[in-house]
Amino acid sequence: MTNNTENKKINIIHNNDTDSIETASVLEKKLKEKGFLVPKGYNYDAFLNICIGGDGAFLRTVHNFNFPNIPFIGVNTGHLGFFQELCPDNLDDFVKALSDGNYDINEIFLVEAQVCTRNSCIELIGLNEIVIKGINSKTIHLNICIDDTYLEKFSGDGILISTPIGSTAYNFSSGGSLVFPSLEVLQVTPLSPINSKVYRSLTTSVIVPNDMVIKLHPEYRDENSILIVVDGKQYKYDNIIEINFKVSTMKINKLTLGHDNFWSNVRNKFL
Ligand code: NAP
Repeated sequence: MTNNTENKKINIIHNNDTDSIETASVLEKKLKEKGFLVPKGYNYDAFLNICIGGDGAFLRTVHNFNFPNIPFIGVNTGHLGFFQELCPDNLDDFVKALSDGNYDINEIFLVEAQVCTRNSCIELIGLNEIVIKGINSKTIHLNICIDDTYLEKFSGDGILISTPIGSTAYNFSSGGSLVFPSLEVLQVTPLSPINSKVYRSLTTSVIVPNDMVIKLHPEYRDENSILIVVDGKQYKYDNIIEINFKVSTMKINKLTLGHDNFWSNVRNKFL
């Protein structure tokens, strides 16, 4: 990717941890020395968003700014930081690479849910995952179809629909597979599926390609409410009859320096 010499505006967004505040100030100075501009507030015409904090800070930033087109790169300050490619020790190399135009921009796929009652539908977008759960920790019963083919009636804690980038998050803790981020797929992962003489549910996750729709139809028993958790943020909905999941046409962009570090990240952060 060549350096965009016309637009030198870079947004720095950070959480309130002391390390993040300090790193933001050091980075701002280094960027200004190389001729970049760091606006006071969030600038919608910037060419880069730098997010300082952990993955949680990254998720919040992407949602707060409504999945902007401006590419992101993250600086990790003392968290797991799976999204966060940089650390405070390598800011000089980063600023040089940025100044030399030595970087790539990769697309990050998102999951989209269309949540419908009998009368209307709303849309939700997730970067890591969207989870469907029963309220008050009740067993949830969900009829699952892929396109128009009936797959199963799931009974258990819930169903998690993960993006490739979210495959290392809640999905991974729930026994789902790690998925390389360039694969445009969704993963359907069961949360504590019940298997007994009464209920029978798939115990492993399934991977669904980008041209198929995952359809869930809740089967209500006592209550007609469900919980939908989008990247850790929980919402309660009543009278939902259908939820359709697909790979969203909306995407975000991630700036990366040189080689893709997904596998070394897996080794370093999980093993
Ligand atoms: P949170 O405290 O912000 O995050 C929980 C942990 O998940 C943190 O260590 C976070 O990393 C890490 N994380 C987030 N996205 C990740 C990714 N793509 N790959 C690897 N690790 C990742 O929790 P929250 O506010 O409830 O929800 C935010 C996200 O956390 C959710 O989207 C969900 O994926 C994940 N989560 C995981 C579990 C679980 O594993 N049982 C339960 C709930 C939520 P940092 O330390 O760098 O922030």
